[in-house]
Amino acid sequence: MVRLLFWIALIAAAFWLWRKFKLSQQVHPESRLDDPLTMVRCAHCGVHLPNDSALRLGSDWYCSQAHLQQGPKRQG
Ligand SMILES: [Zn+2]
Repeated sequence: MVRLLFWIALIAAAFWLWRKFKLSQQVHPESRLDDPLTMVRCAHCGVHLPNDSALRLGSDWYCSQAHLQQGPKRQG
């Protein structure tokens, strides 16, 4: 009789642990970080600005539409 009670308790504990484990898995949301802001440099005038307010053309960044149209400043 004691043996039977022991098994019932063991199964109940296992079930409880399994439920707790399953619930803890569901609680965790996929915490996805958005792309962090990075400072980019205007290829025309060299000003630094965050990439969310910069304009991108290929691998170059520009501070404004005007500089984007004028393109990268050629040195030399
Ligand atoms: Zn610029």
